[in-house]
Amino acid sequence: MIGLISATAAGAAARDRLAAAWPDRVRVYDGPVGDAVRRAFAECEQLVCFLATGAVVRLIAPLLGDKATDPGVVCVDEGGRFAVSLVGGHGGGANELAREVGELLAVEPVVTTATDAVGVPGLDTLGFPVEGDVAGVSRALLDGEPVALKAELAWPLPPLPVAAEGTYTIRLTDRLVERAAEREVVLRPPSLVVGVGASKGAPVDEVLGLIESALGDAGLSPASLAELATVDAKADEPGIVEAAARLGVPLVTHSAEELAAVEVPNPSDAPLAAVGTPSVAEAAALVRGGELLVPKRKSERADGQPAMATCAVVRRPGRGRLAVVGLGPGARDLLTPRATAELRRASVLVGLDQYVDQIRDLLRPGTRILESGLGAEEERARTAVEEARKGQAVALIGSGDAGVYAMASPALAEASDDIDVIGIPGVTAALAAAAILGAPLGHDHVSISLSDLHTPWEVIERRVRAAAEADIVVTFYNPRSRGRDWQLPKALAILAEHRKPTTPVGVVRNASRPDESSRLTTLGALDPATVDMMTVVTVGNTATRDIAGRMVTPRGYRWQASQEGAK
Ligand code: SAH
Repeated sequence: MIGLISATAAGAAARDRLAAAWPDRVRVYDGPVGDAVRRAFAECEQLVCFLATGAVVRLIAPLLGDKATDPGVVCVDEGGRFAVSLVGGHGGGANELAREVGELLAVEPVVTTATDAVGVPGLDTLGFPVEGDVAGVSRALLDGEPVALKAELAWPLPPLPVAAEGTYTIRLTDRLVERAAEREVVLRPPSLVVGVGASKGAPVDEVLGLIESALGDAGLSPASLAELATVDAKADEPGIVEAAARLGVPLVTHSAEELAAVEVPNPSDAPLAAVGTPSVAEAAALVRGGELLVPKRKSERADGQPAMATCAVVRRPGRGRLAVVGLGPGARDLLTPRATAELRRASVLVGLDQYVDQIRDLLRPGTRILESGLGAEEERARTAVEEARKGQAVALIGSGDAGVYAMASPALAEASDDIDVIGIPGVTAALAAAAILGAPLGHDHVSISLSDLHTPWEVIERRVRAAAEADIVVTFYNPRSRGRDWQLPKALAILAEHRKPTTPVGVVRNASRPDESSRLTTLGALDPATVDMMTVVTVGNTATRDIAGRMVTPRGYRWQASQEGAK
């Protein structure tokens, strides 16, 4: 819950806008400000105070405890110009909240936490537990001192400016570490899965004791525990449910059928009779793959009675992540926030050099950039997939939408199901051009690439003809280059067999780039020599009109008829 506190009418107005936008997230604290801040501080995870920072500092000073547990506090000034992340930037989420509030109220977010300001992710914001000298190593990263990454297992991490050797160390491990060495932090990836079986009524202490001793004896850290896993029939077994809750991890269940299909070293008859699979603990731990670190073991009971719980421990490999990111047609403000987030999350960036230039300033220090020139498409796709398979977080970029005449299909043709693939849509050249021209895509439309490098001309011609016959608006991509100059005139001639010479044609070059230009002409008047590879050409259908210099395709023929009637 986010507590909202204001003192003046201006503050209350801004507060009410937040409250209206986030009805389920916020609670308004009325009454005397001091009292309101104290109550909200005790009750909420976050506060937004529409007050001067000085006032808020004085009010919360006596309340501050631990930065890991204190609420995050954001101040919005009375003038409505800034949203200041005051305390709890990382742990309390105040930096993120300041950005969100900034976006909603159209005020500038002010974030002063060093790691966020310079683009190094805070070590405590990577999404998994961290132990050791967080402050010291973070400072070293910021100061550019050599920090070595010692990864004992592959895991997709955001970029960190690390070196092979260093006086500081970031250690990535799921093994027990007595105490982090000086100048060292230990990151705990969620790599361990404990499979659990239990007979009806098994006490939670017995289940929990078994899990803890299994991890401890194998030298594994409970901080790297991702989940407990068991069979569907045990989804409500109180000892297992409570053990997961106390360990702070989800309980995941699988059907007996699924578990019975998993090969395990120690099957037995007892669970087969009870729940229909020869193994619960080992099979549930292994069902999503991984390496069995601790084979099935049973709990020990002080009273000498038969064991009521079994468990097994598996280490799952980190799943690599391949984000296929569309950068939009060129302009920075047509790059989506989601694309930006993916670019900053990836530790490896793969793309054509000219596209890398488009977003280089957004990349975090330490991002490994694998750029190549025109033509090396297949190789880029393969590289991106290979890096993801190694467990890296990879972004493969393309202009416009990366799935449109671009990298997504060659990459997915290479990819197998051992990596996560995330597609981030981008604004295509066709859409950017259409917005410049007016509303040419108001009815059915297609894009056709005139590049016959990958596609035989017969195929292209057949598609152009089909579009011509079906009276569909066409956007031509890759329309004309130095070596390919006859294709565009030929394609236009085919369209002209079915459309009048007065049909509007929009030519847009470098849409949304600094040297953008556009022209509205007609099928009869277009000079193909004015078209190049930075251009898209949009040809209207028989209903498309030039209305006040804008290219407009009606949504349907009734509308068109009424327009005609009005003339
Ligand atoms: N994935 C891209 C298309 C890549 S194919 C997209 O979704 O838009 C390359 C062709 O796209 C170029 O030859 C040109 O025809 C067109 N193109 C790309 N960016 C453009 C822009 N900013 N303005 C005009 N045409 C563009």
